[in-house]
Amino acid sequence: MKSGFSEETIVAPATAVGEGGIGIIRLSGTSAELTLQRFFRPSRSVDVFESHQLYHGHLLDSSGSLLDEVLAVVMRAPRSYTGEEIVEVHCHGGPVIIRQIVDLFIDAGLRLARPGEFTLRAFLNGRLDLSRAEAVIDLIRSRSESASQLAVRQLDGALSRIIYDLRERLVENLSLIEAHIDFPDEDISPPALANLCANVKKARDEIDPLLASFDSGRVLREGLNVLILGRPNVGKSSLLNALLGESRAIVTDIPGTTRDTVEESFVISGLPIRLIDTAGVHATSDPIEAEGVRRATEKVKTADLVLLVVDGSQEASPDDFFAFDLVEKDRALLVVNKSDCPAVLDRSRFSGLAATPVSAKNGAGLDLLKDKIASLFSAGGEVSESTMISDRRHREALLRSREALNRFLASVQSAQEPEFLALDLREALHALGEITGETTPDEILDQIFSRFCIGK
Ligand code: GDP
Repeated sequence: MKSGFSEETIVAPATAVGEGGIGIIRLSGTSAELTLQRFFRPSRSVDVFESHQLYHGHLLDSSGSLLDEVLAVVMRAPRSYTGEEIVEVHCHGGPVIIRQIVDLFIDAGLRLARPGEFTLRAFLNGRLDLSRAEAVIDLIRSRSESASQLAVRQLDGALSRIIYDLRERLVENLSLIEAHIDFPDEDISPPALANLCANVKKARDEIDPLLASFDSGRVLREGLNVLILGRPNVGKSSLLNALLGESRAIVTDIPGTTRDTVEESFVISGLPIRLIDTAGVHATSDPIEAEGVRRATEKVKTADLVLLVVDGSQEASPDDFFAFDLVEKDRALLVVNKSDCPAVLDRSRFSGLAATPVSAKNGAGLDLLKDKIASLFSAGGEVSESTMISDRRHREALLRSREALNRFLASVQSAQEPEFLALDLREALHALGEITGETTPDEILDQIFSRFCIGK
């Protein structure tokens, strides 16, 4: 493991900017405690700070004037989040006082931490593996119960444990093969080879359910992309607002006013939903509208679900059929809006789509529509008991690992030399190591940790 112990001691506010009951400033590195001692006056005299013990006192600036009444704690290495010496100062939660304290420590020679640097140090010091570090950011960013549940499981090491176990078993098999590379005169005996194959098959078969969980996992983590599609004036913006329960998109009587796409997020029974309102689709010569139509058409392709909105109080028009032709029927629901008006539309013209009558105006049918959306995906936002993957990076790595294991099995079939067998297994191991971080390239690490906020 690379060592992350750095010469530099870093500092950053650990709590969000803004007013709050308390603000926490975190220091990590070899001079953390010394820096605290310079400016902190405990209320009762202390010879040596006990680790993980809160001390009450006052923080003074370099001229000795009082900055704030605080609580301070020292967490000695390696029993800390980063694995380094950590100091936390709990001050009053105002943006000015927090900045003054951070500035005081920076003037004393500390460096402002980069985004995610505390967690990066934790990873480099072996305090948590990469998939768990990624779960930290997912947990902070999660906007729904399902997403945070998924992240907490990953943080707890559910995925890491599976990967470590797989790796350990593959390493055992690899060393068996490598023993034969060292002694080329001895062939691997047929029973030993059969045993190797059985082990590798078992490992490969354990990767499959993880890969299969990706679609549901991704939806739980990132949310479901739901696109609202339909000709102008059927009530798309009104539906978006009604579903959100707030007026966000502009609603007007002039057809085609929602020129660009509007995106909003909300949660249906624990399932995060990204709702996208498109410009009305219809054949148009207005270049701005045409661009909107083009974008909507693009988005149809990437949406998890399309809500095709039609106006139930009118006959269907060619523009309705234009939109109908754009959608894939197994990923769309027909929303027949304006159910508060007399029903005129002939729904049979939209065969193949399950229809839900709603009124964006008075809210009728919206709960039923939400239920239908939720029931279409992953049992309505339940995080299943078995371990799920939700990250594209993890999926990529698992796919590569599975391919390498399949190549290994094919190589055994075609009686390849042990060198080739070892190569396949090493590749499989390397790919698995990218998930937990042992073999992840530096630029990917940079990318991952730059997604963090400062202070984490
Ligand atoms: P969009 O162009 O498809 O986004 O349509 P809008 O949401 O702007 O709505 C167009 C018009 O239909 C507005 O005058 C809305 O007030 C009206 N409207 C939308 N939903 C309903 C509904 O459920 N019932 C009735 N009666 N009118 C609605």
